[in-house]
Amino acid sequence: MSDTPALHLEAVERRYVQGNATLEILSGVTFSVWPGESVALIAPSGAGKSTLLHIAGLLEQPDSGEVFIADRPTVGLADSERTSIRRTDIGFVYQFHHLLPEFSAIENTMLPQMIRGLSRGESKKRATELLAFLGLGERLEHRPSELSGGEQQRVAIARAVANAPHLLLADEPTGNLDPHTADHVFETLAKLVRATGLAAVIATHNLELAGRMNRRITLQEGQIVELA
Ligand code: ADP
Repeated sequence: MSDTPALHLEAVERRYVQGNATLEILSGVTFSVWPGESVALIAPSGAGKSTLLHIAGLLEQPDSGEVFIADRPTVGLADSERTSIRRTDIGFVYQFHHLLPEFSAIENTMLPQMIRGLSRGESKKRATELLAFLGLGERLEHRPSELSGGEQQRVAIARAVANAPHLLLADEPTGNLDPHTADHVFETLAKLVRATGLAAVIATHNLELAGRMNRRITLQEGQIVELA
């Protein structure tokens, strides 16, 4: 195991003020995720899962504490630097795929690479390999509307890891799928984590799927609690 966590949160606090009330969502969250490790985040709605993932993904700033991406503190960085880390080092998968409807599976997977500055040829090569690895080798030219729900989510996973990030953050990635398809998408995700040494944090309500991850955590009163 590498001695640098892919993600480390140190004493992260986040609260929302609503009228006269203050909601304490994260009250001193400290935890690490290591390369090659898959962590399931299981907690009821409203517990703060999305908030935690947004802060870990540099989409939102904590009120206090520090977020280290591969040992690099990020809270004090300029927005442009945070965006650059997000593009190269962090991949996101959401419950709904958010693929671009006008573009094919391969184009959707090429785009983040081209935005980062890779050539069309390089982007296409990596996109082709990745989609084939995820079982979509026969679907490269299909648009999202021509793909099943499970296939769409696998393209979303390919897009998320297209730039070979060290960290993958997924918010209910199979929440919108039937159990059999969810199972398949989850297996694909697990295979990818094993093959690439990616660190993954996956929020899910599915306890059976969570049971297949390396670690399970929950949020209780704003703190991370490790589950069996
Ligand atoms: P989860 O993903 O576990 O369902 P969230 O992180 O989305 O939880 O939200 C945690 C709590 O914080 C919820 O009670 C939600 O209403 C509240 N919340 C989230 N974002 C905001 C915001 N921007 N302003 C005020 N309250 C918010």
